[in-house]
Amino acid sequence: MLIRNSLKLTSLHDYYQRLLHGSQPVPSGLDMANTLKFFSQMLLSLLKEVHESPLEMVKSQKYDAERMALYPNLDYKQLYNALTQLIDVVSSIHIGLQAFGQALLQCLACLLPFLDHDLIDNVAYLTASSISVLPMELHQDIVNYLCYYILPFTITRKTEDGTENAASQSIAAVIMMIFQYSSNPAHHCQLLECLMALKPGVVKDILCVVAYGTAPARASAAKLLFYYWPSFNPNLFDRRAVLVKFANDLAPFVCQRDSCPNAGNAEAGKVCYDHRISITFATETPPPMYLCIECANEIHRAHPNQLFYDILHPMQQVSMICENKVSH
Ligand SMILES: [Zn+2]
Ligand SMILES: [Zn+2]
Repeated sequence: MLIRNSLKLTSLHDYYQRLLHGSQPVPSGLDMANTLKFFSQMLLSLLKEVHESPLEMVKSQKYDAERMALYPNLDYKQLYNALTQLIDVVSSIHIGLQAFGQALLQCLACLLPFLDHDLIDNVAYLTASSISVLPMELHQDIVNYLCYYILPFTITRKTEDGTENAASQSIAAVIMMIFQYSSNPAHHCQLLECLMALKPGVVKDILCVVAYGTAPARASAAKLLFYYWPSFNPNLFDRRAVLVKFANDLAPFVCQRDSCPNAGNAEAGKVCYDHRISITFATETPPPMYLCIECANEIHRAHPNQLFYDILHPMQQVSMICENKVSH
């Protein structure tokens, strides 16, 4: 396995060199996608062997050494660096760019629980920055990877010294990237709603985008600031118009189970954090596993000791008045 792994890393490096220098034959995105899928599959099969809870351990720096010791000693960091390099030369890929982009995002998410502290802190921004070079068809995927697979395991990570981790500090930059390169306001809303559930002071990050972002990013940030925090200025604009626009564009995140009876049409309502269950029922998808209610019930019947948690649904409406009934 070790030899095969380093061989394939050589091929990733070779792709990079040929794209960088434009040397023939220029690699096709489809070939590169297949190589990356090989790595994702390898990572998932390694993860499936682990009996402890790497997804739980990844949430705290304290367990990093213990977590890294769960896996065979392979070049995870080199793989991460190779992916980073490939993002730099994406603009030279002409055939199969979408397939490559999909495989790249999937591989990054699969790699997350194998990374050490410094790299974990970078994954959110690296993923967000891929939006500047990947085609528009992948923008929804990028936002989904961030919201469902990366942000919940990175920005809330506890550091050894109790300070805010670097991933959390990079959130203003993550918002800026998505707001600048996605022209779909539904993506902006999805990202902010995910962040609001994970990070208490996210309003400061939005203010930072309003202050320092590029023109399109700051315009969207200002709009959403008043949308989600109406107390800043309740009369500034017609909130209903914004609501209708956003609601129409929201693409539901669907059940990820391979043999879902609703075949990719049912919205995910539950999440299972057990990586072994996840890799068993969604063989090519990084954990955790997001499921429709029907699949969650079915898997729960077969595995009654597994926990399935509710996932957050998009906000239908933001109240203009304080809804905290306890304080009145
Ligand atoms: Zn399902
Ligand atoms: Zn109140």
